Amino acid sequence: MSTSYKDLVSQLRSAFPAPVSDRLHDAYFVFSCLRALDQVDALKSAAPMLGTPVTLDYDAARRRRVGEHPMTLEAVTSELVQYLSGMFIWGHPRAQINVVPPPTIPSIIGGLLPSIYNPNLVSDESSRQVSIAEVEAIAMTAGLVGYDPAVADGVFTFGGTGTLMYAGKIGLEKAMPGVRESGLREPAVLVCSDRAHYANLTVANWLGLGEAQVVKVPSTDDNEIRIDAYTRELTSLVDAGARIACIVATMGTTDAFGLDDLAAMVRVRDELVQSRGLDYVPHVHADAVIGWAWSVFNDYDFDGNPLGFRHRTVRALAGTARRIRHLGLADSLGVDYHKTGFTPYISSAVLVKDGRDLTRLARREEDTPYIFQSGERHPGRYTIETSRAGSGPLAALANLRLFGRQGLQALLGHLVAMAEELREQLEGHPSTTVLNGDNFGPVTLFRVYPDDVDTFAMPEQERRDPAYRERLLAHNAYNRRVFELIQADALQGVGVVISLTDCYRESEYGEPIVALKSYILSPFSDEAQVHAVLDSIAKARRAIAAGA
Ligand SMILES: *Cc1c(COP(=O)(O)O)cnc(C)c1O
Repeated sequence: MSTSYKDLVSQLRSAFPAPVSDRLHDAYFVFSCLRALDQVDALKSAAPMLGTPVTLDYDAARRRRVGEHPMTLEAVTSELVQYLSGMFIWGHPRAQINVVPPPTIPSIIGGLLPSIYNPNLVSDESSRQVSIAEVEAIAMTAGLVGYDPAVADGVFTFGGTGTLMYAGKIGLEKAMPGVRESGLREPAVLVCSDRAHYANLTVANWLGLGEAQVVKVPSTDDNEIRIDAYTRELTSLVDAGARIACIVATMGTTDAFGLDDLAAMVRVRDELVQSRGLDYVPHVHADAVIGWAWSVFNDYDFDGNPLGFRHRTVRALAGTARRIRHLGLADSLGVDYHKTGFTPYISSAVLVKDGRDLTRLARREEDTPYIFQSGERHPGRYTIETSRAGSGPLAALANLRLFGRQGLQALLGHLVAMAEELREQLEGHPSTTVLNGDNFGPVTLFRVYPDDVDTFAMPEQERRDPAYRERLLAHNAYNRRVFELIQADALQGVGVVISLTDCYRESEYGEPIVALKSYILSPFSDEAQVHAVLDSIAKARRAIAAGA
């Protein structure tokens, strides 16, 4: 005898939150969450990892099929928890891997509430006050970065890549009015530095511009766009009749925290529009998905230093502020709260200086008959997504409220102070060299050398002199080996977890330069954890010297 559907439905009902207040069932819901968290807690140790290292078995994964019978909520939850085993704990002070932050508790709740009540930001019909939360988060961020919140606007979207997609699309509409209807009739280019994120290529690909239309301008040793080369490139593009879909200033490069000179890039654009009498103004986008958070220092009194940062930290923060304070000059900008804003994924927003720019993307009313019958805010008219979760805005709002300017100043200041501490140590050690010493963020790129190398001269020589090609490659291999040894330890819960970048930049003769990377984003980081990096390096060097 099989179970009647009525029995099954009544069993499954207990797996949904009760639609009306039901103390008993609410307790069951909350208790289920607590039990899941309890099981996660049991995976914790002193190591920067949940559970134990696991080998990923994709063959077994591909053999999974949907079962015949329902499972209990308890069994499903326990199963889900096990998927976290082997995850690095980003908030652990010995995890210094990448630009992945640990989320705050309010931002987690900001993600949880909408996942229970399921607002859809496509329209305020289906999201009500969560739509207000989106507008608030955008207005607060606009005010922070130097836009006029009364005319600026923005939306949350699917990551930093999505923010670039909006910029490219808006810029393309400016360069070729009506392209949304007619499609691309002539090529259009996207201009960025050679240190810009590969998401620029993604956007060129998906917008149909073509990756070959991404013009990568060379960067300086400090990982910022070379303004002389940019000026020459932009001028010759315009003079050759090319349409500029978008100029992207990278405000915080992914590996090195390089900051383009946005103000100069805008000035050069404006002069060209004037001198060449262009019939459109090429769109300038600031890819500030990492750097935006430093705008809390726009009005910091670096002389008075009221928060009492160390001198070295003040210098680093001021070095960043000198570029970030110009963010308001960009026509649009991208913000990843899920990077330097300490929220869970996905929480990203694209902001436009002039809110009317978003209407360039609007669909016709007759094409959207299903929705927008009532209410007054319908982002679904111009967003690339239809359904959009409320978790991004609520998580962002949670942290903007939690931190305030001063909280974020303190937190970012602390992370930069820790990175500076690491740099001081690396600079003081004969076998290590910091590569991005003039990029003042929480990320430190460095190279480790064998004993016999003069680390004062070598980094410069191997970067500039083709005669050093063999040594550059040998040292690349050496750094990979150091990384492997540190990583092997880390996977066992020993030492620190750092990362490696295959090409932090190319040598002047075109070879990739490998770098080790420490990205400090844990509020729990302190001097002791920073010194642990040095210990891990020393241990790896000894192992290699002994033949490992
Ligand atoms: C991370 C990053 C992106 C892509 O953002 P996602 O949120 O990962 O999609 C784009 N640009 C820069 C500079 C980045 O660091």
